[in-house]
Amino acid sequence: MTAAVADRPELFPLRKRTGTAAFHMSKEAVDFGYEDLDKLTQKEAVTFMAEARWGSTKEMPCTHCGTFDAHYWNIKELRWKCTCCGKRFSVTSGTVFADRKLSLIKILKIIFSWANGASGKPALQLRRDWNVAYSTVFTLVHKLREGLLRGFNVGVLCGVQEVDGMDVNGRRYREKRNKPQSGSSSAKPRVPEHLLKPKVDPETGEIVGPPKPPKFGKTAKQPADRRLLLVMRQRGKSQGRGASATRIAIALSECGKTVTALATRYASAESKMMSDEDPSYATFSKLFAEHKTINHSKQYALPDGTNNNQAESFNWRMRRAVEGIYLNPSNKYLKDYGAEQAWREDTRRMSTGQKLKNLLRVAMGVGMSLWWRGFTHGAHRDEELLIEGPRPASGRGPKKGAKPKPPR
Ligand SMILES: [Zn+2]
Repeated sequence: MTAAVADRPELFPLRKRTGTAAFHMSKEAVDFGYEDLDKLTQKEAVTFMAEARWGSTKEMPCTHCGTFDAHYWNIKELRWKCTCCGKRFSVTSGTVFADRKLSLIKILKIIFSWANGASGKPALQLRRDWNVAYSTVFTLVHKLREGLLRGFNVGVLCGVQEVDGMDVNGRRYREKRNKPQSGSSSAKPRVPEHLLKPKVDPETGEIVGPPKPPKFGKTAKQPADRRLLLVMRQRGKSQGRGASATRIAIALSECGKTVTALATRYASAESKMMSDEDPSYATFSKLFAEHKTINHSKQYALPDGTNNNQAESFNWRMRRAVEGIYLNPSNKYLKDYGAEQAWREDTRRMSTGQKLKNLLRVAMGVGMSLWWRGFTHGAHRDEELLIEGPRPASGRGPKKGAKPKPPR
């Protein structure tokens, strides 16, 4: 039976794949696996990481004094001794992996497994797979995210930029999107659909689609833990290959101040901006060379190429991660998660080996961890990393921990 099916491929038609999906099915997508990591000796693991970190195993800067030289290699200790200051350093000294307790090969395996997830891999699953403590694997993957946040989500982009924002978190954020909190007296009454006037196109006079229920203002009271993930993506130069670079920021609301802060931080003034018709993007036409908008209730793309579908693509990867991997991400580390997804989106056409090397290079290039050293001993980052902007109206009801008023 199986032979018959193999002889007649038309019985088993495979959907034709294009773009990134075709790349994932191709031979080039997988060029490295766990077996390759298993084969490595301790020394080869050091060489592998040195190649990823410095691009060389012979010459590198000393982690203590910065002298760039061919330092003395001590094969017994698998460390180098500086030719200038005489101090010793290993391949992980001065990086986010400094003071590690796991073996290099085990760290490489966990990182490889984490990098291979399309929209991430839960820390709990890594814990089960590799039989390490949850706190160990949680801090390890957060150190990788820190590397991506400080080493990948930086730098000014130039070219065609697509900007968009998406809701993350907040009480029942999906169904309550753009709606005020329940119980608010300012909420409009719901009009039954059959009583609404059908929508008419002002230009042609035609009836366009079914009537839409009234939409509530963004300025209405929103859940206090709601966050906006703002994204800006640079369109790639080659046609049909999607975006090439991504920058993200977390804001309390999608308003003029926050989107301008994101755009002026990460886009050069010569950029061509594309966004939806949200009024918060109104200043873009003055700040940048060009600003085009797309009305999503009418179409997803205009014939002249105006669309922000690459930004929407990022939003969907982030949405899948929030709902399928992180499950209940804390607002405090939301920017870290966003940076992780930005990296996953931008490295989508890299092979497994390239991805691992890219991740190691970026994560090891930012120096020691600022936020995760001593995490298990109580040293936690205090602040949420938000972009500048006003705070939205606070939620209704008594404040957390407020004492009830005495009865009169
Ligand atoms: Zn030195």
